[in-house]
Amino acid sequence: MAAAPAGPAVSFAVTKTDGGATAARAGTLTTRHGAVETPAALVCTRGGLPRHLSVDTLRGLGPGPGAVRGCHVCGLDLLTRADQGAHIAAAGGLHGYTGLDAEVLVVDPRDPVSHGLGWKQQGAAAVRVHTALGNLKLTPERYTALLAAMRPDLFVCLASDCDGAEARHINDKKKARDRVAALTTASLALAGGSPLAGAAGALVPVHGGRDGEMRAECAAWAEEVAHGGDYGGLVVGFALAGFGLGEDPADRAGLIARAVAPLSAAKLRYLVGLEGPMQVLDAIAGGVDLFDAEYAATLSEHGYAAVWPLEPPAGGAGAGQGGAAGPEKKRRKVSEREAAERTVSAADGADGLKINLWAAAHRRSGEPLVPGCGCYTCTHHSRAYVHHLLAVGEMNAEVLLEIHNTYHYMAFFAAVRAAIAGGRFGEYWEWFRELATA
Ligand SMILES: [Zn+2]
Repeated sequence: MAAAPAGPAVSFAVTKTDGGATAARAGTLTTRHGAVETPAALVCTRGGLPRHLSVDTLRGLGPGPGAVRGCHVCGLDLLTRADQGAHIAAAGGLHGYTGLDAEVLVVDPRDPVSHGLGWKQQGAAAVRVHTALGNLKLTPERYTALLAAMRPDLFVCLASDCDGAEARHINDKKKARDRVAALTTASLALAGGSPLAGAAGALVPVHGGRDGEMRAECAAWAEEVAHGGDYGGLVVGFALAGFGLGEDPADRAGLIARAVAPLSAAKLRYLVGLEGPMQVLDAIAGGVDLFDAEYAATLSEHGYAAVWPLEPPAGGAGAGQGGAAGPEKKRRKVSEREAAERTVSAADGADGLKINLWAAAHRRSGEPLVPGCGCYTCTHHSRAYVHHLLAVGEMNAEVLLEIHNTYHYMAFFAAVRAAIAGGRFGEYWEWFRELATA
């Protein structure tokens, strides 16, 4: 019998920082199902699998820049039968149950999209949630039993939901914070005494909703818990909870900064609920490491393809003037194509970052979604073909779009990691902001 590997099952290490210019950093999350280089995005799942991608298709996106290393699983999404825990355990845990046995799986009680609907605090000992089984009383015991059956690589501890719409009704901040603390510590203590202790890592939620002061207080408490030492070395990082739930985008960077400041730099910071590359870059600049890739699936469902450039033009960000004739000419050609796309933007929602394949402008286009993209869709099919599939209601339209959009989103994160590694994240961020607001 092989000896159990020494040390914690899951660990995180920061490998590069932005030298103080921003809080951006690169790191490595190491698990028994491989490593994830951060910043990174987890592909989102429904019932344990990506929306339109089979396991084989998902793996077909790699091993290059489009490779997927991890998936986000909403634990409650899988509660479709009363004995689901036993069912998943019998299949060898979540990795065996989903067939995603080479991917890093992160279980979160929150679904990036539907979260907030139906969460209701029930004292300091449980939350009520809507699931396929109906309205369910979720206690730390029940949640931990489900996690122990799933054996994910990482999980977010159960906490009450004192953010989003509900936060507005919580006047007593201390009471709200104590509720989060009670559920989280109960959830951690139970996990620490379960088989999860030798197999998974825990993320301590940092709540506080739209209140900066409460964010800072919740983060200080989470930091204390992370170093409490009573939880079998389970705590790998923090989940910055309650973002993407209607907060004013102008306040987000400040809220993230308040939440991140008290947290030890050596631990992973995870955040779900952001929409698209600009919001993600702002959060990376604030020191966040791990995200969800729901945006790629949402684009696909609405007939959009991500088309933003992954790298600044040759010569570096901001090097626009006085370049050689070659790159200048190439740039002009690209901007003409972009300009043509933007002429239909008022009607179809396209902008400099995405195109709408429903638009009649693509009906006769023999071009791939993104010229030069290495994904299956772009190397085999044209915009006209995807437009046609959408027009006739063929589900392969979503499949082909999700292949491209997932690949593109993963490649975007790879480009960001390269920018951090190369000490040029600030330039990249600035370049992208200009691109996104053009
Ligand atoms: Zn592509």
